Amino acid sequence: MYASFGRLVEARRILDDKGGEVDAVCWNAMIDGYLRFGEVEAARELFESMPDRSMISTWNAMISGFSRCGMVEVAREFFDEMKERDEISWSAMIDGYIQEGCFMEALEIFHQMQKEKIRPRKFVLPSVLSACANLGALDQGRWIHTYAKRNSIQLDGVLGTSLVDMYAKCGRIDLAWEVFEKMSNKEVSSWNAMIGGLAMHGRAEDAIDLFSKMDINPNEITFVGVLNACAHGGLVQKGLTIFNSMRKEYGVEPQIEHYGCIVDLLGRAGLLTEAEKVVSSIPTEPTPAVWGALLGACRKHGNVELGERVGKILLELEPQNSGRYTLLSNIYAKAGRWEEVGEVRKLMKERGIKTTPGTSIIDLGRGEVHKFIIGDGSHPQVKDIYQMLDKVKERLQMEGYEPDPSQVLFDIDEEEKETAVWQHSEKLAIGFGLINTSPGTTIRIVKNLRVCEDCHSATKLISQVYNREIIVRDRIRYHHFRNGACSCKDFW
Ligand SMILES: [Zn+2]
Ligand SMILES: [Zn+2]
Repeated sequence: MYASFGRLVEARRILDDKGGEVDAVCWNAMIDGYLRFGEVEAARELFESMPDRSMISTWNAMISGFSRCGMVEVAREFFDEMKERDEISWSAMIDGYIQEGCFMEALEIFHQMQKEKIRPRKFVLPSVLSACANLGALDQGRWIHTYAKRNSIQLDGVLGTSLVDMYAKCGRIDLAWEVFEKMSNKEVSSWNAMIGGLAMHGRAEDAIDLFSKMDINPNEITFVGVLNACAHGGLVQKGLTIFNSMRKEYGVEPQIEHYGCIVDLLGRAGLLTEAEKVVSSIPTEPTPAVWGALLGACRKHGNVELGERVGKILLELEPQNSGRYTLLSNIYAKAGRWEEVGEVRKLMKERGIKTTPGTSIIDLGRGEVHKFIIGDGSHPQVKDIYQMLDKVKERLQMEGYEPDPSQVLFDIDEEEKETAVWQHSEKLAIGFGLINTSPGTTIRIVKNLRVCEDCHSATKLISQVYNREIIVRDRIRYHHFRNGACSCKDFW
């Protein structure tokens, strides 16, 4: 549109000269131009000086423009002020929220859209599905699937793949599979979503099997999925074979992510020396993610010596990433080296690092989603939840459960640490779920961080004692807790 900012300024001069004679299309183009150059204030000023602001398209341009500039709240102000909206206004607002990672807000807008009986167009559905996938909002995602069926909207590559991804991420790998099988025009991304989904659910063999049945050439992402499946399934040999075949058989050059998968594969299996060798064999500089995989393996296998070395490299490379400090501190704590735990904590304080608080979201169905933060006291039912958790803890202790506070970062006394692990966000969500859902029904939770060891063993027991299936999606994978066991086979 405007090749340079200079041309835009020139156009503005002409517009100012002509004032009221210029039609709305020109004004829109001008506003859009400003927003494309990130000139939000100029755009707003121009908008306010427009003689006629009745055109919906102008408002829509403001909404998508401000969203694009990362100012979704301002976009929302425009959205709320609109007297009349069309589907584009709604979709622009939904997309704006999704780009900013505000998935709950995106779904809220979608709800409102349904209430006002605005029929969503096909192109907005994948965006809403990605919000559902992120929140684990299964019912809402299903609603979209039904809506598409009822309105004979064809499941093309994009929409079908979004559905596969949503079902997989909402814990229904069976429904993901159903959609995948029915899709007539599968794209490589469809295969990737299905393989990645199986990997997340710990179905390594099925992921590899599906990979071998691909009728189009896999790409880089496919290999990340299938190698992850091997890593989480403990299939070391298979993973190495696939990695070695990438270039030769498929013409896909291994990238740093694939090396990362191999480091993870070996590290998880306890082959730490081999994993370290792979790190030093990488043709480019290893990324923090690669070192992170190695550090994770050190934590899992209690290797303090290597963990300390890798941890220090990571703190140099990513001094602002709180997760690295937590992991290193966990390694020290597991070895009972409290002095070093204190040092890591001091370093964090000096550098002003804040940890990402653990957050869990529970989906009650019917579009009702509740969010809990570690140590949360803000939920209206907070008293009942803590009371429930006290009861749960007692029942678990009768079954032989002992709290494992080794992953609490602080050097506080044992009793306080025990209290701290019972305030983890997923425990709060489970407590809430036990109170607010019918006996025997499945509890679905999405967590932003990795599940800690204490929550993992407590949840296994809860699934048995309370006869509940509990599905927890953590930062990277799925845990299906059933009858006292987890689908990850304690390998996560
Ligand atoms: Zn925990
Ligand atoms: Zn698990």
